[in-house]
Amino acid sequence: MNIKHSLVVPCYNEEGNVENFLNEAKAAMAGYTDSYEIIFVNDGSNDGTDKNLKKIWHENKDVRIKIVSFSRNFGKEAAIYAGLSNANGEYITVIDADLQQDPVYAVQMGKILDENPEYDMVAAYQAERKEGKLKSGLKTLFYKLISKASKIDFVTDASDFRTMRRCVADTIVALPEYHRFSKGIFSWVGYNTYTMPYDVRDRVSGETKWSFMKLLRYALDGIVAYTDLPLKLPLYTSIFTGILSLIVVICAIIIDVFSSHIASPWAYLIGAVLFVSSLICAMIGILACYIGKIHSEVKHRPIYIAKEILTYENDKKTDN
Ligand code: UDP
Ligand code: MG
Repeated sequence: MNIKHSLVVPCYNEEGNVENFLNEAKAAMAGYTDSYEIIFVNDGSNDGTDKNLKKIWHENKDVRIKIVSFSRNFGKEAAIYAGLSNANGEYITVIDADLQQDPVYAVQMGKILDENPEYDMVAAYQAERKEGKLKSGLKTLFYKLISKASKIDFVTDASDFRTMRRCVADTIVALPEYHRFSKGIFSWVGYNTYTMPYDVRDRVSGETKWSFMKLLRYALDGIVAYTDLPLKLPLYTSIFTGILSLIVVICAIIIDVFSSHIASPWAYLIGAVLFVSSLICAMIGILACYIGKIHSEVKHRPIYIAKEILTYENDKKTDN
């Protein structure tokens, strides 16, 4: 079945939002296309989300609604993956259930893709962050650091709220890694991305699922998945302690040879300890280099992603 637009909606304890979401999504889509589906992924909610989803599924036979219910809470990343795997649309939008992201923007993103065939994905970013200065400052710093360390361009402020063409979703679903960090995956797969500002609204019901600790864990997951910076620490430490041991020993020799004083034997002992530490760190650093390689190999990422291949067969077809 050819469907134009799929909305993928991760839901965790969103009993007060799913029905409002459906109504707003229906209203937004009404002027755009009839050919759309909404995939609610119930991420192991323990409130009335399941009941409310089933209710709207029964009551809205005019809308293509799919519900994927997890056996427990697997996290938003797993919910996005499940939604993308189950989506049939030509365009697929990942959008939150809490209506902070107005479904009208999903239509706007769809129209951008309609009018601009050169773009494969539209990523929405918050025009103005509505969270505290400390939280938004830390997030900006994190994206700057991870972009530098991973050499992948993480657009600061860009969220999971985005619309992609089928080819992008297929590529993302084909990445088999277990520990998924969508913001990294969206950047890693490449493709031409249009960034669009949007105004984030207040949550309609319930509260955010992201505590400071959960965000910190998420940031660490991103760093571990996308950079080998922590693995390089032993090598940097080895260089630092190696240089320090040389300085200590050279200073002690200079004092012994060129001055009338005798350098403390402690200086040589400290120099030797630093030198041995440097050697141990270098060995750990070498092991870490291999672990880094294993880490990137086990993800089984494709060696390249071809967006399009034109061959002589295509030329022949167009000539006919
Ligand atoms: N969510 C999810 N699983 C989780 C946490 C959140 O599916 O473990 C969903 C949640 O229901 C919402 C979206 O992810 O639709 C964004 O979550 P939230 O609104 O709590 O995040 P915030 O907007 O505060 O960043
Ligand atoms: Mg939210």
